[in-house]
Amino acid sequence: MRIDLHTHSLVSDGTQTPTELVRAAVGAGLDVLAITDHDTAESWTEAEAAAREVGIGLVLGVEISTKHRGQSVHLLAYLPDPTEPALAESLALIVEGRTDRAPGMVAALREHGSAITLEAVRRKSGSGVTGRPHVADVLVELGEVRNRDEAFARLLSPGMPGYVTRYAPALVDSIGIVAGAGGASVVAHPWGRNGSDLLDDATFADLAARGLAGIEVDHADHSPEKRDRLRGIARDLDLVVTGSSDHHGLGKSLDFFLGANTTAPEEYERLLARSSLSSERSGRRTPEVVGGALPFGH
Ligand code: AMP
Ligand code: FE
Ligand code: FE
Ligand code: ZN
Repeated sequence: MRIDLHTHSLVSDGTQTPTELVRAAVGAGLDVLAITDHDTAESWTEAEAAAREVGIGLVLGVEISTKHRGQSVHLLAYLPDPTEPALAESLALIVEGRTDRAPGMVAALREHGSAITLEAVRRKSGSGVTGRPHVADVLVELGEVRNRDEAFARLLSPGMPGYVTRYAPALVDSIGIVAGAGGASVVAHPWGRNGSDLLDDATFADLAARGLAGIEVDHADHSPEKRDRLRGIARDLDLVVTGSSDHHGLGKSLDFFLGANTTAPEEYERLLARSSLSSERSGRRTPEVVGGALPFGH
């Protein structure tokens, strides 16, 4: 059974519609897919319909942009009730912060000599959530950089000419919010671009005590050594170990193809158990896994 628990559609910064993403997952031989757009559940309805049509297991999720000690940390929230007031308000504030940031980034880049316009950025993000990848795509279109990676490396990362901060809730608070909404939370690529200093063993112990369910260990941004160490931390703290592609369609390079990293079936079962427990405790009506919790006669 092949399980990929972290993917993006063009509702955030992927390049496929939710339907295209679900169909591509079938094409990639996946049995279970999670759709986890940044800070929004807008992709769920379409993805759910597509998953029923093609008969793949689908876990509904959101990747929440949080911060810890001033640095960006992504928190995957699986099967929460997105209408739960605290979660809904937190996501709305993040999306608002993203929308408000775009004019500042455009102004900063123009100041730096770019011909970018706000209209072009809005056209890229469409009705979805605006992110730096959309700004990067416009810079690529203008021929000012070769690809998203170069845009981030030269212009869009903290400390660079086109970087503007935006609102993000605290990681520790978000773990509580996800629990209150009946979901299970997993720290996404914890030792990716931030390195391994920000979230150390002691921090993970604290997060686990606050209700964290798991750690995304197998991710393209983690070296084999980092994966081994993270697996050890997860084992010591009884946290679920997940593995995922973090697929963004054509928006990220080859290491992020669907199924590039996967989650073991027993870890997936543990994650679903954590999510059921959270759902019971919160008393919220949370979404079911589409296609059954354990599809294909497991
Ligand atoms: P934002 O959420 O607007 O702050 O932008 C962060 C998003 O940009 C992440 O979720 C990634 O999808 C993407 N991203 C970050 N760094 C890079 C990079 N070096 N190359 C391509 N995409 C990136
Ligand atoms: Fe992204
Ligand atoms: Fe992420
Ligand atoms: Zn992601």
